Amino acid sequence: MNEDRADIVVIGSGPAGMAAACEARTLGLSVVVLDEQQAVGGQIYRSIDTAPADRVEILGADYAAGQALADGFRSSGADYRGGATVWNVTTDGVVDYIIGKQSKTISGRHVVLASGAMERPFPIAGWTLPGVMGAGAAQILLKSTGAVPKGPAVLVGCGPLLYLLAWQYLRAGVAISAVVDTTESAGYFRALPHLVPAILGWSDLLKGVKLLTALRRSGVAFYSRARDLAVLGETAVEGLSFVQRGTSKSLAAGLVLLHQGVVPNAQLSLSTGAKHRWNAAQLCWEPVTDQWGRLGASALYVAGDSRGIVGALASAAQGRLAALSAAAEQGVVSDLARRALPLQQQLARHTRIRPFLDALYRPSLQNRIPLKDDVLVCRCEEVTAGQIRGYVKLGCLGPNQTKSFGRSGMGPCQGRLCGLTVTEIIARERGVEPGEVGHYRIRPPVKPILLGDLVG
Ligand SMILES: Cc1cc2nc3c(=O)[nH]c(=O)nc-3n(C[C@H](O)[C@H](O)[C@H](O)COP(=O)(O)OP(=O)(O)OC[C@H]3O[C@@H](n4cnc5c(N)ncnc54)[C@H](O)[C@@H]3O)c2cc1C
Repeated sequence: MNEDRADIVVIGSGPAGMAAACEARTLGLSVVVLDEQQAVGGQIYRSIDTAPADRVEILGADYAAGQALADGFRSSGADYRGGATVWNVTTDGVVDYIIGKQSKTISGRHVVLASGAMERPFPIAGWTLPGVMGAGAAQILLKSTGAVPKGPAVLVGCGPLLYLLAWQYLRAGVAISAVVDTTESAGYFRALPHLVPAILGWSDLLKGVKLLTALRRSGVAFYSRARDLAVLGETAVEGLSFVQRGTSKSLAAGLVLLHQGVVPNAQLSLSTGAKHRWNAAQLCWEPVTDQWGRLGASALYVAGDSRGIVGALASAAQGRLAALSAAAEQGVVSDLARRALPLQQQLARHTRIRPFLDALYRPSLQNRIPLKDDVLVCRCEEVTAGQIRGYVKLGCLGPNQTKSFGRSGMGPCQGRLCGLTVTEIIARERGVEPGEVGHYRIRPPVKPILLGDLVG
């Protein structure tokens, strides 16, 4: 195997990864950035370098703002390796990846894991039918190729990304037959104590209010407080049923886009065996790090949404802070505290609204834990919610044991998609907190790879 070295290896070229690389290059460190996507940008700025002007216009100002970071990254002198799928990372900074069907290894004196977020699963009846997609997945198509649905779409769920996609679709001329909003009344009460900090971070709040106002004024049917959702259809989606304020409703639909927030894509940090804790506000696992994002005494840092959902601007600040700390460790920076201060202030500013959003758009229990036993939870191995409940009755205590009971979490996605649901189902059945139940033990390869590529 080829082996090369860099002062800093960054995994992920979203805002956190690009910012970490720029900071490290400014300090004169050698930097290699690996991303499974060919182009830089991560989720929010996907295809920022190649999107034509009309698409940038549709996607809006927050998307366009990524160009400055991408330009800075390109001119930073960091070595970008696109199309590089990282499948293994060790605590001493060795990174294994596949690129162009070849297996490669690189060693970083420090490694920044900036693998971002993924959409939270939305396991309701019918969610696996053809014609049902994540709203984030639909947005990926729009950003990367400009592809939009031909027929009208029904958007279902809650959270900023759902409303953003609706707004972007309207600008792109896509027909939206309805937005079915699952935000709970209780969410407003939960969010109230966090309103003052959110108002202090007024620009983010204002952005959200403008987005929702535009959506409400567009004339698109908006059903709020929807619950008891089910996607209808036998072999493909035909509609959506739900209950709104005690009244049952049913909509015809050829395309249903589901979304209830994003969660850290923590497979890489989990695979190193590092300690992770249950974040009860965001209902997900996050790595336990120090203030710089460092994982214990290892050579690894975590920055951005893979460390806990913070949003793009805060992710970039975390990326820079991780690079600064690594540079201090490498003896390049002697005044870490002074350099870090403005970045820490940025981070605090950009995360002010987060507790408000987490409380308001907390996905409801019935959309996280399927009500019905026959709803699929592990899509790869076709394990249902009822089967997981059955395993608990037989004495299964946590997600890892479900693997022996019925292969849940053992398919190609390695439990990435079902992990949170399985943890929450078991916790509920056992009557304990998810943190006590634990998570799947993730082992390399964290991404499906071909044996031929590994030896290639
Ligand atoms: C589908 C989706 C769409 C989103 N769209 C928006 C939006 O429009 N606006 C907004 O404000 N927020 C959006 N978000 C939230 C958003 O992800 C961020 O807040 C921000 O992009 C986080 O930045 P990051 O650098 O932490 O990670 P990301 O931007 O997610 O970047 C992570 C990068 O790591 C790479 N990666 C992950 N695992 C591996 C691996 N094993 N090997 C190699 N590369 C890997 C990914 O390809 C990706 O490019 C979206 C989230 C999702 C899941």
